[in-house]
Amino acid sequence: MIEPAESTYQVWYCKQCDQACKIHPPTVKPSCRCATPLPGLRPTTVTQMHTPQPKRLQALTDEEGRLRALARKGRRVRVTFEAEVAEAWISSSGSSGRRVQFIVTTPDGRRHVVDSGLPGLHIEAASDGEQE
Ligand SMILES: [Zn+2]
Repeated sequence: MIEPAESTYQVWYCKQCDQACKIHPPTVKPSCRCATPLPGLRPTTVTQMHTPQPKRLQALTDEEGRLRALARKGRRVRVTFEAEVAEAWISSSGSSGRRVQFIVTTPDGRRHVVDSGLPGLHIEAASDGEQE
C-alpha cells in the first residue's frame, strides 16, 4: 500500500544568499529572504523522495482520557463553563411560569442561550480574578 513517491522540481538558487529563490512547480516555499532575489541563470533539478509515514495511532491525551471515562450513558456529570452575559430577559410561558433567560458569550466569542429553568441548572457569578 505505502509506496515512496517521487517528485522532481527545478530550483533557482539566489546568487546573493545561495538559498532557493524560485521553485517550479512551486510545491516548496523558497527559502531566500532577499528583498530582490538574484536567481541564477540555470535551474538545478532536484528529485525528492517522499516516503509517506505510516499513520501513527494518536496518543490519548489526559484530557481525552478523562472525558472518555465520563462518556457513559447514565453517568451523572456537572457541566460548568464561564461566560459573559450578553443579554437577559424574563420569559413567561404557560405552566412553567416566569424564568430568566440568558444569552451568554464564551471566550471564543460564541453565544449560547441559557435557560435558567433547565432542571439542575445553576447559574452563579464568576470571579474575574484568578481564583480556583
Ligand atoms: Zn537571496
